[in-house]
Amino acid sequence: MEDCIFCKIAAGEIPASVVYEDDLVIAFDDLNPQAPVHTLVIPKAHHANIIDGVPAETLGAMVHAVEEVAHAKGLDEGFRVIANTGEVAGQTVHHFHMHVLGGKPLGENLV
Ligand code: 5GP
Ligand code: ZN
Repeated sequence: MEDCIFCKIAAGEIPASVVYEDDLVIAFDDLNPQAPVHTLVIPKAHHANIIDGVPAETLGAMVHAVEEVAHAKGLDEGFRVIANTGEVAGQTVHHFHMHVLGGKPLGENLV
């Protein structure tokens, strides 16, 4: 999708610190981390949010990518996954993404 920053990252047109990638998804570190580990998992295809017709195979690949991120980042003790959906929830980039947060006690902070 034109003018979508995450589509451009998925296409390699904008650089990112890539943690994991396969045919369907890519995971990269957040530009403005809210925790010692803050990685985003996105589908390579454009979907506006988690309920925007994302194929089950893609959702499965995203959960697999979360697992890969957790291993790569040493999040053995636990982590948080967040998918802000809609502006009311604080979604600023309208290309579906899961935040993977960890590396410190997260308390009640929401990202
Ligand atoms: P949202 O608020 O939509 O759930 O989260 C969007 C996230 O994308 C934010 O945490 C923000 O820091 C991150 N972000 C926005 N633009 C870029 C970018 O160009 N590169 C990277 N790596 N992260 C970005
Ligand atoms: Zn997009």
